[in-house]
Amino acid sequence: MSELSKCFYEVTAGKTCRDLCHPEYASCWISFFESARRLLPGSFKLYLTYLLIPPLVKGGGYTRQFWRDHFASYIGVSYKTYLIAVVGLTLQCLFYKMFGQLHYYWVMGFPGFFSAALSPKLSRVHLRLQGITYFNMMLEVMLKKSKIWLVVALRESKLCGTLLFMIFNAQIMDLLQQGKVNQFWFMHPLPVKQPDRESTDDSRVLGTLYPSGYKACSHEKSCDAFIADGILKYTAAGFIIEIAGALITKFPLLYKDPARLLARMRNSLSLKLMSSLAVYIGSYRLIGCLLCRHYGKDSPTHNRIASFLCGISYMIYPKFQVFTLAFSKFVELSWEHLFKTAKNLPDWALKLDRIPYLRIVHMVAIGYMYHSLVFYSHLSPPFNSKAVNYCSDNRVERLKRRLLGWMLDHEWSKA
Ligand SMILES: [Zn+2]
Ligand SMILES: [Zn+2]
Repeated sequence: MSELSKCFYEVTAGKTCRDLCHPEYASCWISFFESARRLLPGSFKLYLTYLLIPPLVKGGGYTRQFWRDHFASYIGVSYKTYLIAVVGLTLQCLFYKMFGQLHYYWVMGFPGFFSAALSPKLSRVHLRLQGITYFNMMLEVMLKKSKIWLVVALRESKLCGTLLFMIFNAQIMDLLQQGKVNQFWFMHPLPVKQPDRESTDDSRVLGTLYPSGYKACSHEKSCDAFIADGILKYTAAGFIIEIAGALITKFPLLYKDPARLLARMRNSLSLKLMSSLAVYIGSYRLIGCLLCRHYGKDSPTHNRIASFLCGISYMIYPKFQVFTLAFSKFVELSWEHLFKTAKNLPDWALKLDRIPYLRIVHMVAIGYMYHSLVFYSHLSPPFNSKAVNYCSDNRVERLKRRLLGWMLDHEWSKA
């Protein structure tokens, strides 16, 4: 597919926006009205996961207010995403009219960028959700595409990936424990508590393995219960995520062929995510408890050591998505922490912090990923094609196939 970038201008010579984007509609205006009419259900379908998963993992507190806010949030993000899709497809025509020809970066790239810039502003939560998801996908494509030897070596080595994940995890957990920044991460460290030397340690397993006279850890309950509780909850969360993902993709089978749905779901369920999460939390808590028992009290160093070592669970589920998520959190939290704690920062640094990074990242990443889907679809993560094709009613997919068809014609005519 990347070949397409090399012969783009030869292949598209003399073609119009209608040939490329909307041969089914005679004019750009009809194309605009039709996309405005047809695209609405797509983004609502895309955000079904967002509608379903938070209530599933919340586990309580389902007040009327919660449901009202949750539905309003779902409608808001779906509707604005729909507008981004309509504006993006319309700009495609507008830019063609402006230049009088098709340009490589102006096919889905700049239209994506400007559609994110021009559409109504998303709420901060949704801007973060979209911006960081798209940024992480952009990072993934860049990592896969890069020809720099260092990046290639890192990409090929599971060991390097794991080691980097361990470092990111340790830094994220350390910053979260310091408490100046607060964000969602797979785990949240407990604040360090002074041990109560009058208390008794009632852990059977760890008590036998590594006895301590009193409870030295910062958590409530016994160490055994604390570790088992984590493993159970994280395994369940992994299971729910897998089930929800499988249900959403295989949902149409429910009314077409329910018997096949079960078989298909069983096949698509993987134990890797669940076991990786269980090892992640289990080893973190176990190492933390052992260190507390050894030194007789808790300390921030224990959190750093335990979170570094438990990052080894990445080996079980070495996904680009997990890696890029850890990397972006690592950068974001370190940056935020620096600005909240550093004293007497120079003027230029303060000015730098006022730049709306999230919004810029959102625009750039959307443009980059739209463009990648057309020209580097083999590198683009499945979620990107799902998102774009749901929201564009497969128009981007058809556009990509048309371009590919023209390229093949071009190759044959040369041969
Ligand atoms: Zn047009
Ligand atoms: Zn403990």
